[in-house]
This record gives sequence, structure tokens and C-alpha cells, in this order.
Amino acid sequence: SGKDLIVSFGEMLIDFVPTVSGVSLAEAPGFIKAPGGAPANVAIAVARLGGRAAFLGKLGDDEFGRMLAGILRSNGVDDAGVLFDTGARTALAFVTLRADGEREFMFYRNPSADMLLEEGELNLDVIKSAAVFHYGSISLITEPCRSAHLKAMQVARDAGALLSYDPNLRLPLWPSAESAREQIMSIWDQADIIKVSDVELEFLTGTDSVEDDVVLTLWRPEFKLLLVTLGEKGCKYYTKDFRGSLDGFSVNTVDTTGAGDAFVGAMLTKIVADQSVLQSEEKLREVLRFANACGAITTTKKGAIPALPNKTEALELLKR
Ligand code: ADP
Repeated sequence: SGKDLIVSFGEMLIDFVPTVSGVSLAEAPGFIKAPGGAPANVAIAVARLGGRAAFLGKLGDDEFGRMLAGILRSNGVDDAGVLFDTGARTALAFVTLRADGEREFMFYRNPSADMLLEEGELNLDVIKSAAVFHYGSISLITEPCRSAHLKAMQVARDAGALLSYDPNLRLPLWPSAESAREQIMSIWDQADIIKVSDVELEFLTGTDSVEDDVVLTLWRPEFKLLLVTLGEKGCKYYTKDFRGSLDGFSVNTVDTTGAGDAFVGAMLTKIVADQSVLQSEEKLREVLRFANACGAITTTKKGAIPALPNKTEALELLKR
């Protein structure tokens, strides 16, 4: 179609990452202030890797919101769809790092500005120019952002975009596990490309098996690509015609925040550049090797956005 813009919709926030791993939030001696928020991470990952990205979302008209908008711009992400709420503040996440780099989150969303994005404020021109529209679940939890999210998806689809979905399960944000499951499944079928982590797979299927027969209970005939990411073990991929797995890269992991978003950003950048990767297992494996490398690099530094690789860093790791 000639379109190459990747539009990412949802939250952008500040992650407060503890300076020390393996201690509780209350015991952390200090925090690093790192920009993040899954959909924003994806947009910046795309831009750092040389793709064209736009971010759509709402920030607080405060010090954090202005800092985050500056980070989008300095990374070359189109911010024409970024709004500022004058009443509510920018969302914050407080991260707890386990010794292995895995993390848990607590949130300030009370409500935060991202939750107050309204349907009428959407920049439809940006959405309509999307080759890929990427979204998560968090913006579906409450109104008015829920309606805005559903409307944006529909406009993108009507304009011919591929829909890319990452549930980004952060359980404390939902009123109950059941409501999280319902919301995720309510938009599951509408996506063309889905990425879930092993943790999300277990949440959705009720079993910790990542065998094909378990994963395929979630498959829909409309899907173009279903991915399961397995942390340091890499990923599994499923299309209508083929399926398989790819090992990850071994790196010195300190904080896994943003790894999945780097993986998605890398994969979408390659798919937009050449959609035939969805029909060729050989090409897809090459793309996913690149995505695994980008995910791995992101785990070697604290925070999400500060850790996202550029193309040179990704190619460096691929040569190893
Ligand atoms: P999420 O960040 O969404 O929970 P994962 O943790 O599965 O998703 O990470 C996404 C991708 O990032 C993985 O498929 C893998 O390629 C890479 N990755 C994640 N954690 C590590 C790690 N500890 N070592 C190497 N690569 C990793």
C-alpha cells in the first residue's frame, strides 16, 4: 500500500526503577527515573531502529509529561497525536526488580492523564495513515479512554491498517483477574498480529505449558501471526502455514522492563518494510532473530526507553 507508519496507542509514563535488585519497594535505597509505558516503548523502539513511528496518548501538563513529550520528539517519534490533560497528572509506575531482572509494578493512575483521553480528541489523520496500529489492554480498563481505544482501532482497521496487539497484563490495574481476561479476549479476535509472554499465556489458558496444542487453543483463523515470548529462551511463532521456535540471546540481564516492547517494535519495523515476511518462514525467522536480539539488549540496562537498542547495537549482537 506504500504506507509505512507504525502508530502506537496507549500510555506513556515514568518508571521508578530501584537502584538495587532483590529488595521490596519499601526497602529500595533509591530510584532511577526512567521513561516507559509499553505502547510508548514500542514507538521509540521502532524509531531507534530506523522505522517511522507515531505515538497517540495523553500526558499530564506537568514536569513529567513535558519530559516524556521531549523524549518522543528527540527520538524522532511523530507526536502530532499527543495530548496534554490540564487536570490530571502523568502516570507513574514503581518497579520492584527481582534478582534475575524480572519485575513487578505498582502504579499511580488515580486517574492519570492517559486514562482521560476522549474519543473526540483523537488525531484521526495520524490513525488513518497507519500501516500498523499497535495497542495494549490497559487503555481499555476505564472510560473515557476505553471508547477512544475502541474507536481508534476501528478507524485504523477501516483505513486498512494491520492491527498489532500486546495484552501487557499488569494485574494490579484491573479490578479482578476475571475482568482482565474478559477484556483481553474481547479484542483478541480483532488483531492480525498478537504477541503474548509466557506469563500472559498461562494467565489466558490456565496452564503453564507452552506446548503447541495449548497455544493453539488461542489461535483464530483471522490471525496473521501469533508470537509467544519466553524471556531468555526466545520465542515461538505461529502462522496459518507454519510454526516453530527460536532461541534467545544470552546476555547480562539486569532489568527486563521493555524487552517485550523492543521485540514488538523490531518485528513491526521489519514487517512494515516487507509484508512478505508473513508468508515466508525463512524470512520470518530472520526477523524474529533480530527481534530476540533487540529484546535481549533491552534487558542489559535499567529502565525501558533508556535501554532500547538502535540498529547498530542490534546488528552487533547478531554477529556474535
Ligand atoms: P515481556 O517483556 O513482554 O515480558 P519477554 O520477557 O518474554 O516479554 O521478553 C521478550 C523478548 O526479549 C524475548 O522473547 C527475548 O527475545 C528477549 N528477552 C527477554 N528476557 C531476556 C533475557 N533475560 N535474556 C535474553 N533475552 C531476553
